[in-house]
This record gives sequence, structure tokens and C-alpha cells, in this order.
Amino acid sequence: MKIVVDASALFYGFRFDGRNEYITTSSVIEEIRNKQMKKSLSMGFELLKVLAPSAHNLEEVKRSAVATGDIGQLSRTDIEIIALAKELDALLLTNDLAIQNVCRRMDVKYQSFGGKSIDTEIEWGYRCIGCKRRFSKPLDECPYCGNEIKRYPRKRKPIS
Ligand SMILES: [Zn+2]
Repeated sequence: MKIVVDASALFYGFRFDGRNEYITTSSVIEEIRNKQMKKSLSMGFELLKVLAPSAHNLEEVKRSAVATGDIGQLSRTDIEIIALAKELDALLLTNDLAIQNVCRRMDVKYQSFGGKSIDTEIEWGYRCIGCKRRFSKPLDECPYCGNEIKRYPRKRKPIS
């Protein structure tokens, strides 16, 4: 299965597996680098293919976003990621509601990260299984005691 991933999915701690084909745009990679999330991204970096959408599909996304009223909420990166999903007939993995709204308009399949519920937005934190210290970013091991760091839902926010 082809899956296009956006920056929000990567920020929420999405992990790649070998079962699907993962694709993104160079602007998403750039965004991740700027936000210093490269470390977590590098866990599956070799599984992520970088492609660019055609001008035709970019224009179609812009037209649809104007129609839904979401254009002001979308960055250039967001527009590219929707256009790429449309072009490849891929599933778009995103937690961004404006992106999801435009996808519905364009009949692009999408799924929020976690895939269970679209009415709850989860903010993830990271915790050491040994000393229970909490961290805001994923780490290979606890810098205090060397134990494994696991993700936990730090905040759940209902989507209205
Ligand atoms: Zn620890």
C-alpha cells in the first residue's frame, strides 16, 4: 500500500514498518529538519521515498482549498502533500484537520495517526521504563539510568 505521510504524522511519533511504501515531499523533510526531529525520523528514513507532485495537481488542491475555505490554513507543504496523495492515489496519513477537510472534498483517502479515532487528538510524551523520568522527545535510552524510553499519551484533546 502506498502511504503519503505529512509532518504532523511524523511529529506525533509515527514509526515506519516494512509492509507499506511510504512517500513524502522534500518540503516535509525540510520541516522536520528545521524542528530537529531528524533523530526520530532517521529510525525509518531509508523507507521514506521523496517525490514531488505535478503542477496540475497543485492547482487542483488550491482550487479545492479555496472552495472549502481552508486555503488560509494550508502551508505550501500542506498543499504539496495533498497533491502528492491525489497523484499517487495513496492514503494520506495526517493529523491536520484542514488537510483532512480538503482531502474529503477531493476524494483523497486519509487517516489520522493512530488510525483509531478521529475525534481525539493525542499529544505524545516519552517516559523511561526504569526511573520514570519524562522527556519531551524520543531518546534511544534514558540518559540517567540507561533504561528504555517508551511513548505515552501526554494529552488528549477532543476534536470539535
Ligand atoms: Zn531512567
